[in-house]
Amino acid sequence: MSTITIALSKGRIFEETLPLLAAAGIVPLEDPETSRKLIIPTNQDNVRVVIVRASDVPTYVQYGAADLGVAGKDVLFEHGGAGLYQPLDLNIAKCRMMVAVPAGFDYDNAVRQGARLKVATKYLKVAREHFAAKGVHVDLIKLYGSMELAPLAGLADAIVDLVSSGGTLKANNLVAVEEIMAISSRLVVNQAALKLKREALEPILAAIAGAVKE
Ligand code: ATP
Ligand code: MG
Repeated sequence: MSTITIALSKGRIFEETLPLLAAAGIVPLEDPETSRKLIIPTNQDNVRVVIVRASDVPTYVQYGAADLGVAGKDVLFEHGGAGLYQPLDLNIAKCRMMVAVPAGFDYDNAVRQGARLKVATKYLKVAREHFAAKGVHVDLIKLYGSMELAPLAGLADAIVDLVSSGGTLKANNLVAVEEIMAISSRLVVNQAALKLKREALEPILAAIAGAVKE
């Protein structure tokens, strides 16, 4: 049997992928929250899980260092998808990519007036394509986290960020003004592995597909 390596990130993706792996008979033998190991064995001798940053999952799968991985649509969009086969929306880690501004800032009016907006985000490609499609001129400012702070500190007029409950926006006196896209996590597969390890991969992919909840 060929060895199968699955790339996952700690936190919600690991937690929400566990039941799907279980449906394929795969149970990781350690918890990445408490273990310091980055390579986690499973109950299946030929299957292992590697723990990487959420935004690094597509890269591991692209180069075949992992055969499979789970990554958000946000991360996949920024990565571009080269070398990846995306067979399955897992319907987990659901949220929305939104434009948000300080409460009281008239975003629609600013857009109508053709104002040039300073937009802070971790998602440059998503933001660039969104505002280009709307014909809005923006200066994009790349951040790596805590986007909500940018308008409060005077770094930007608006942010592009992931929103689920809206609690973080509200706590920082921001409001979501536009949805860019709905986000969920996808199973991605290395294109070469799909051919070379078909026999080992197919039953895993089928079991995961069968366990996806609507
Ligand atoms: P890192 O912590 O390494 O910087 P990250 O913050 O993107 O990465 P997570 O917070 O675990 O890592 O998010 C992983 C994925 O889960 C994201 O790429 C996105 O698709 C999804 N996600 C992020 N925030 C939420 C949320 N509040 N609710 C639901 N899904 C979310
Ligand atoms: Mg996070």
